[in-house]
Amino acid sequence: MDSGVQAIVIGAGIGGLATAVRLRSQGYEVKVYEANAYPGGKLSQFDLQGYRFDAGPSLFTLPEEVDALFELTGKNPRDYYSYETLDPITRYFFPDGTRLDAFADPARFAEEVEKKTGESQDRILSLLSKSRELYDITHHVFLERSLHKLDTYLRKETLQSILQLHKLDAFRSMNRANTQFFQDPRVVQLFNRYATYNGSNPYEAPATLNIIPHLEFNKGAYFPVGGIYQITDSVYRLAQDIGIEFYFGTPVDRVVVENGQAVGIAVGGQIHHAEVVVSNVDIVPTYRKLLRDQEAPEQTLNQPRSSSALIFYWGMKKEFPELDVHNIFFTEDYQAEFAHIWEKKNLYHDPTVYIHISSKKHAADAPAGGENWFTMINVPHDAGQDWDQMIETARISILKKVSKMLGKEIQPYIEVEHILEPRTIQSRTGSFLGALYGNSSNNRFAAFLRHPNFSRKIKNLYFCGGSVHPGGGIPLCLLSARIVGDLVNQQHPVQA
Ligand code: FAD
Repeated sequence: MDSGVQAIVIGAGIGGLATAVRLRSQGYEVKVYEANAYPGGKLSQFDLQGYRFDAGPSLFTLPEEVDALFELTGKNPRDYYSYETLDPITRYFFPDGTRLDAFADPARFAEEVEKKTGESQDRILSLLSKSRELYDITHHVFLERSLHKLDTYLRKETLQSILQLHKLDAFRSMNRANTQFFQDPRVVQLFNRYATYNGSNPYEAPATLNIIPHLEFNKGAYFPVGGIYQITDSVYRLAQDIGIEFYFGTPVDRVVVENGQAVGIAVGGQIHHAEVVVSNVDIVPTYRKLLRDQEAPEQTLNQPRSSSALIFYWGMKKEFPELDVHNIFFTEDYQAEFAHIWEKKNLYHDPTVYIHISSKKHAADAPAGGENWFTMINVPHDAGQDWDQMIETARISILKKVSKMLGKEIQPYIEVEHILEPRTIQSRTGSFLGALYGNSSNNRFAAFLRHPNFSRKIKNLYFCGGSVHPGGGIPLCLLSARIVGDLVNQQHPVQA
């Protein structure tokens, strides 16, 4: 399988790992250069005094996109990792005392919502079926292929999708659509939350984002056995098993371009040649640093960024049976919270708090009798705010809110603490301004404004990961790898 044809991937985030596997399966000899000493980028993990924490993502959908990487290389994914269905998916706590479980089975979820809020089951099921329809219309065009290649538009599935684009609900906001559809404000709030799955604002983002509940309820939400880091770990092990070479602690300095063609990379004062170069680094530093001598597509790079996150990783020396794996403690005023994040670029005094506890499923993640709390709020991307002050204030607000809603003081049980925030997200993963998902999807044209998966000016140069098409989040990063693999295969097939 050694063709002698070289491909270089810059960055070992999940998009970079998946692209490396795809190129290797096409016969390339693949080398991955990663600035950190470990793989995974945002999808990494760390240990703190007996507690294990997943550093970034916590919710896993579309497992078939991970499985596909193993199948491509003739391996059985179950020899590397496994996952179980999450049920309930999320436990919701509302300020009026309502507690509601989002069960995996849509009918059971709809029944629970009707029981707890009075909203009709039929309306919940109808929203989920509309969500399925949105997915069916969009996924061929917007998720699985390059939006920037003519042949995408010549395919039968694309033409069928284009004929139905008027059904995308792109001309009203997600909140407006949900408010017009549901009667109970708690149900509106629950469905508005899906805008945060790609770092957007439900009061601005188009109702097209109502596609997201389909992924959770119709396609399913999962828990990888051992925690979500198992995705990175298993794909990394697969990559090693199929002969991909990794260079950790090796920040790439620049992409070497000659006569309008990428011919390799410069790293540590040396040039390494390759026929194909793929950057998994956020597209803004890719241009500003790795391609600093080239003309940059300013319009694409100046798009508003997605929101970021402030996370308190708390080792708790107590178990909380009233909590599940994923828990949401809603704010009293969602609109005010988003106005603070998006317009004022600061933090609301009563934020919506998300607590993910992987030790509920994987007991080894915390010492006996304890739990590992990943406690997160949505925050603006970095815009030079006084983060130290904001973090201190947010910590007090979160402790006060969760203690009140659980009816017990939680602070005394915090045994260890670690904090991640927009500045450290940027310094650890290269993510410009600490945005979690690249550009925001608040604009109805966002899909078209993301950078393509290839360079229009420089031959043999490709881009994958959450800051380029089709967008952020694990499943979309994996789809970006699929698109890059397909483009490389069409444009530079390795002759066997
Ligand atoms: P990244 O993870 O961004 O990695 C890029 C890599 O490039 C890094 O390892 C970096 O070190 C490396 N790099 C940068 N510069 C260089 C250089 N010069 N040379 C070499 N290497 C370089 N997604 C979900 O699907 N579900 C969730 O629940 C979810 N929650 C999230 C919560 C948080 C707190 C965060 C931070 C993200 C979350 N996401 C979630 C988003 C998801 O983590 C990302 O979309 C995805 O992991 C990004 O992968 P990527 O391929 O773009 O690479």
